[in-house]
Amino acid sequence: MQKQDTEIRTRVCRSCNESYDYPVPRSPATRFYCESCAELPAEVRAVLEKYNKRLKALAAQIDKLEQRCRALEGK
Ligand SMILES: [Zn+2]
Repeated sequence: MQKQDTEIRTRVCRSCNESYDYPVPRSPATRFYCESCAELPAEVRAVLEKYNKRLKALAAQIDKLEQRCRALEGK
């Protein structure tokens, strides 16, 4: 299936984790950053991205723990 570059798709911002449509005409959003984050200085975005990664890692850990708790309760 061939995808065109102009096809609007929902992406998730790398730094703030928000969903956004891309590409949108006249929007500063990029392939990796939403409209608000695309205009931030690169250093600020890098910090946000780092935190977002940590949050995602933590969320994954919580999911695992919840699954483990559920499995224990199910006994
Ligand atoms: Zn963003």
